Amino acid sequence: MRIHPVIGEGTKMDMGDALPGDEAGRLEEALATVVGDLDPELRSRYAFQVILVPGGGGPYVGLSDGKYWSGGTALWGGDEGSALLSVAEGLQECLMEVCRVVWPECPRHRFGLHARGSREGVVWACEGPRPHVVAPVGALPQPSRRLGGRS
Ligand SMILES: [Zn+2]
Repeated sequence: MRIHPVIGEGTKMDMGDALPGDEAGRLEEALATVVGDLDPELRSRYAFQVILVPGGGGPYVGLSDGKYWSGGTALWGGDEGSALLSVAEGLQECLMEVCRVVWPECPRHRFGLHARGSREGVVWACEGPRPHVVAPVGALPQPSRRLGGRS
């Protein structure tokens, strides 16, 4: 039986507790990188952290007050690329399910972007009718700096 995902409350990841230190560090670093891609407005409104769920589960990307979404895929920081990819997806899921915010959007087409692993590393990709890569995760242009913002 699949448990219906809920918004739960977890606690801040205790370094070196449930995760090996290097994996925890990679996840924290990846989170800082992906949060850097957030629009300034979102960054000022929400603070994020890597969350562990009491009784096991996660880690997930959650909010600073401990809220997270239990339907998300658990983060995996076995290597830098995996950490970045899973944290990008986790942050997106947390924003979508807990904050009801669709982020990020393609600056040209307004479709939601998806984090993808590629030869160039982890990128934000637009999967509209004409799929294209928008930017590497960690280097997403901010709205004010976006070119061609007219739709
Ligand atoms: Zn696009």
